[in-house]
Amino acid sequence: MKRFFAERNDGTKVYFSKEESNHIVKVSRLRKGDLISVPDLDHDLICEISYDDPERAEAIIRDRSVNLANPKADITLFMAVSKSDKMELIAQKACELGINRFIPFISRRCVKIPDERSSVKMHDRIVRITEESLKQCGRNRRMEIGNVMTFDSLIASVEKEHDIIFAYEKAEVPLKSFFDPARPISELSLIVGCEGGFDQDEAERLKKAGAFPVSLGGRILRAETAAIALMSVSSYLLDN
Ligand code: SAM
Repeated sequence: MKRFFAERNDGTKVYFSKEESNHIVKVSRLRKGDLISVPDLDHDLICEISYDDPERAEAIIRDRSVNLANPKADITLFMAVSKSDKMELIAQKACELGINRFIPFISRRCVKIPDERSSVKMHDRIVRITEESLKQCGRNRRMEIGNVMTFDSLIASVEKEHDIIFAYEKAEVPLKSFFDPARPISELSLIVGCEGGFDQDEAERLKKAGAFPVSLGGRILRAETAAIALMSVSSYLLDN
């Protein structure tokens, strides 16, 4: 069943924007009486098209079911600003892998420190890419995209969190030792470095702030590979 996002829901009917109405009627060629699925946060609404106007389509809510694609664990990825195509790829995979928050940060070895304008541009591009990813992967709850953080504000937010791991190629402890089935984790923060990695001082500061350094194996992974590997394993082990 095709999935469309409603602009308004009055409890018995849902109403679509001009763009979504066009998508329903013109692009998907659906008509009055056809059934569609409409995301509604923790539920998916089964709706019957009642007005198939390509400018402002409407549908009657016939049934609802729990959305099974929404994230179950609360995972945040703090990602050091890397090249924009990498950031977009990582954000897209974060959405698919059930990450709740994606927060870029600056570290000393970031190749390009974004200024105000390019930070806004990167933020908007990532929002657009993750909107598409949301539709594609079937989750209803959007991933929050944070503004670019300084390293100091990353340390400050890490100090407040409980379970934080940072991917560090010099770490002796493998990722799997962090997860203990006897110690359930409800909220987890992941930190991954940029192409240049973390310098010694940054790694020490992260450890002092309470972030746990983990190794992802004996090979040096690209930033995007490390992020995707860390998110995949964490999501899997937290039944996300
Ligand atoms: N410092 C690396 C070097 O010597 O080439 C460059 C950083 S690596 C390209 C980008 C990020 O991926 C690192 O900051 C780290 O967060 C993560 N990473 C890469 N390989 C890793 C590994 N084997 N174990 C843990 N983290 C790794």
